[in-house]
Amino acid sequence: MSGDHLKTLMGLEATTPVLIALYDAHDRLRYANAAFRSAYHIGEDETPTWAEIMRRNYGAAKGTVLRTDDIEAWIASTIHRRGKVPFRALETDLHDGRWLWMTETVDEKGWMLCIAVDITNVRAEERKLRQDRDFALRAVQVDQLTNVPNRRYTMERLNEFIQNCSENPHMWGCVAIIDIDYFKAVNDRYGHSRGDEVLLDFARQMQEFVRRSDCFGRIDGEEFMLILPDTTVSEANLILDRLLDKVRTARPLSNIPEFYYTCSVGLAEYREGDTVSDIYLRADEALYLAKRDGRDRVKRYTLPGSDREFSPDQTS
Ligand code: GH3
Ligand code: MG
Ligand code: MG
Repeated sequence: MSGDHLKTLMGLEATTPVLIALYDAHDRLRYANAAFRSAYHIGEDETPTWAEIMRRNYGAAKGTVLRTDDIEAWIASTIHRRGKVPFRALETDLHDGRWLWMTETVDEKGWMLCIAVDITNVRAEERKLRQDRDFALRAVQVDQLTNVPNRRYTMERLNEFIQNCSENPHMWGCVAIIDIDYFKAVNDRYGHSRGDEVLLDFARQMQEFVRRSDCFGRIDGEEFMLILPDTTVSEANLILDRLLDKVRTARPLSNIPEFYYTCSVGLAEYREGDTVSDIYLRADEALYLAKRDGRDRVKRYTLPGSDREFSPDQTS
C-alpha cells in the first residue's frame, strides 16, 4: 500500500461511524478509532484492558448493556471465551440505545481486531416485523368485540383437547356451550349497542371462572364455549352454576339498573372415541334441553338411564 493510500485509509477510519479497535494478547487496548472510543467512553490517550473498560462502563451505565448484577462474575465467565476462535460475530446493544454487529478477528499471536457497525435500524425493522406478525396472529385468534378467543381459535383448542384425550387414557374433561337467554329481545328493546355491552359484560364475568388450562371463546353471536380439561362433569357443573349466579346478579347497563340477563349451559363430558363434532353435538343437545326446561340453568348430557338428567332416549 502506498503512503497516500495509507493516509486516506487513516483519515477515513478516524471519521467513519464504524467502530474499530485493536487489543493485544493480554486484552489491552492498543488502538481504537474515535467511534470506538466514544461508544465505550475511552479517553484519547487511554489504553485500558477489555475488563477495565467493561467494569467502569458497567458502574457508570455506559457502553455495552450487561445483563447481570455481578460484573466480576460476568467478566470472569466472558473473558475465558473471548478471542478463543479466529473469528466470531455477535449482536450487542449499548446503553445509548444503539445495536451493534460486533466482529472479532484474532491472529495467531492473540491480537484481536474488533470492527462493529450500527444495526439499530435493522433490528428495528425486525422488531416491527415481529410486532406485525403478533398483531396479525392476534387478529385471527381474538374476537373483536369481546377480546376473548374467536370461533376459529376455540375450535382449534377443542380439536387439540379431543386429540389429547384420545391419545392419552388419563386425559379427560368437559365441554360447555353457554348461550345468553332471550338475547334477541335485549337487542329489540334496548338496541344493538346495548346488546353489545351485555356481550362484553358476559365475557368479563367469565374471566374469574376460566383457569389457565381452560379455553373460553365466543363461537357465535351470543354463544360461547368453555373447554375444561381435567375436569369431571360434576366439577364443571359446580363452576357453571356459580357462573350463572354471577351473571344473574350482574347489572351491566349503567342507566338501566333494573336490567339483568341470564344464560343457559349445555354440558358434555369427553367419551372414548369422541370426535370434535360428537362432543359438540352432545353439548348442543344438552343446551337445547336447558332452554326447553326454562333457561337460566345447566344441563348435562348423560348416558341413557345413567342419570336423572337428559339422555337421548328420554327426549323422543
Ligand atoms: P334463546 O334464549 O333461545 O337463546 O333466545 P335468543 O333470543 O337469545 O336467541 P336467538 O338465536 O333467537 O337470537 C340471538 C340474537 O343475538 C340474534 C342476533 O341479532 C343477536 N346477536 C348476534 N350477534 C350479536 C352481536 O354481536 N351483537 C348484538 N348486539 N347482538 C347480536
Ligand atoms: Mg340465546
Ligand atoms: Mg344462540
